[in-house]
Amino acid sequence: MRHLITGGAGFVGSHLADKLAGRGDEVTILDDLSTGKIENVDAVLDGGRARLVVESAEDAGVIDELMGGADTCFHLASAVGVKLIVERPLDCVLRNVRAIDTVMAAGARHRTRLLFTSTSEVYGKSNGVALREHDDRLVGSPAVSRWSYATAKAFGEVLAHGYTREQGARMTVARLFNAVGPRQASAYGMVLPRLVRQALAGDDLTVYGDGGQSRCFTHVHDTVEALVDLIDADAAIGNVYNVGATEQITILELAQRVLERTGSSSSLRLVPYEEAYAGGFEELGNRQPDCTEIERLIGWRPRRSVDDAIDDVIACEEAATRLSVAA
Ligand code: UDP
Repeated sequence: MRHLITGGAGFVGSHLADKLAGRGDEVTILDDLSTGKIENVDAVLDGGRARLVVESAEDAGVIDELMGGADTCFHLASAVGVKLIVERPLDCVLRNVRAIDTVMAAGARHRTRLLFTSTSEVYGKSNGVALREHDDRLVGSPAVSRWSYATAKAFGEVLAHGYTREQGARMTVARLFNAVGPRQASAYGMVLPRLVRQALAGDDLTVYGDGGQSRCFTHVHDTVEALVDLIDADAAIGNVYNVGATEQITILELAQRVLERTGSSSSLRLVPYEEAYAGGFEELGNRQPDCTEIERLIGWRPRRSVDDAIDDVIACEEAATRLSVAA
């Protein structure tokens, strides 16, 4: 099989490249390296089963050529991270929407089996219940920058369904819930790598708000297994699936576990949202997926715990520190 992964040098994309190359498939990684990093794919490129094309997913000529040579396409390229989105909503939404349009149009033309990674953000502020794929959404005002990302991803979902229903394309949508694990950048908000770095450096762990908000953190290796099994399943064409752990944890509890598991003597510091983010931020109380649909289709269930994810992030950050000290 020949796979095209847009955003393949990013956090989720690079683990996906490892998985597909590891089963003996050919992988083309497309990444403009805006938030993706070459170090994420060094190993898979050295292994000889993957190649890297440094171009933008908005470039229609490049996408058309690569799509023509692929059996499947995972469209992951995306400006991501609450901090980045809140600070530069226009740039993020335009880049996301243009890339989605370009990649899906080419996917439809070439009849390439395509998986689009959407996000739990599309559910918006719906609170307190396990979210199901066809539930109504409660997205905030378009004037609040946080929701620009949800809007761009929802646009992608609409396109995927439209191309599949109206033009016979073969697309599936996966809504990812807080994927975490090694290689996740901390610069754009993502809480787990930030807390682990702070703990290892002996800095205060920044817990936003009162830390009572909760999430379902999903180990990236579980996420990637779901994506591969979904694209392999023809019965998934035309459908949308939640991909997330069902175990909830508050951010305060997460920070405490990071302290325990790193053995750090850092303190926890509560940071008001106004200090943490520019205007245009709105917090979510909790967000939990109902994963009945994906389990019914491909038998997928997350196999790793949040502690496994914390330990793997600690190991990754410690290795990165050792490398930078040695350099
Ligand atoms: N968060 C935090 N400290 C940080 C970064 C994030 O307490 O240094 C909080 C953030 O406000 C949110 C949760 O952690 O409640 C998850 O944030 P992230 O940006 O990782 O994901 P999302 O909000 O998109 O679920």
